Amino acid sequence: MTNKFKYFIGNWKMFGNLASLNSIKQVHNFCLKFKKYTSKSKIIYCVPYTLIYFFSQKLKSKFISFGAQNCHFVETFGPYTGSVSASMLKKVGAKYVIIGHSENRFEGDTNKLIKQKIESALKQNLNVIFCVGETLKEKNKGKTFKVIKNQIKSSLSKKYNFNKIILAYEPVWAIGTGKIPKIQTVKKTIIFIKNQFQKILKVKKTPVVLYGGSVNNSNIRMFSSISEIDGFLIGGASQSSKKFIDIIKNYYK
Ligand code: PEP
Repeated sequence: MTNKFKYFIGNWKMFGNLASLNSIKQVHNFCLKFKKYTSKSKIIYCVPYTLIYFFSQKLKSKFISFGAQNCHFVETFGPYTGSVSASMLKKVGAKYVIIGHSENRFEGDTNKLIKQKIESALKQNLNVIFCVGETLKEKNKGKTFKVIKNQIKSSLSKKYNFNKIILAYEPVWAIGTGKIPKIQTVKKTIIFIKNQFQKILKVKKTPVVLYGGSVNNSNIRMFSSISEIDGFLIGGASQSSKKFIDIIKNYYK
């Protein structure tokens, strides 16, 4: 089953400054002009912590929401130097937060820690973009499904509000490399994630599942042929308004 909206979520990683608001304004203007695309889409920018408040204050857009790229597992305040909590994010205008990105898993985020972060984010009524996916080594050993199943099982719980959770399938080896999986593999994996989600969590709801990993304005045409993909988590290409707009345009072409 597919979901109603297609998501285009930008993950700016450690890029951007106050002047980058112009890039998002261009995307907003595009949305104003091309309502035929935007009525079917949700556009979200997950930007560095330093930019969330400024962007969400300066751009009140019905087309674009803002989010963060991670949060601390403690929900409110605590002696955690350099960290930012879900409640802090909520107060500066974030509506979404990416949790479990492979770049954070590399830095030590375990499935257990990710679960705590998801709980904190949900308690703050943030929408969670939960990333799952296999490394190259795991892929080569044929362990993709096993890894993803374990990530879902270890970090989600039946008691969560599933209307607030989006999953993103991000094969780690496809992130920032220009490499993408075979299109039939993406389709199979997205369907697997949807089925496992329902099976493990014993819910009827079909989750929103995105694809992420080297999406650009040319390979998006291939992805658009797979109706089961509910949208995209876009890293590098989302930093350019032109590339981001072209991805959306070409998706609907
Ligand atoms: C990401 O960082 O989530 C991502 C998908 O990056 P890229 O599009 O650059 O591969």
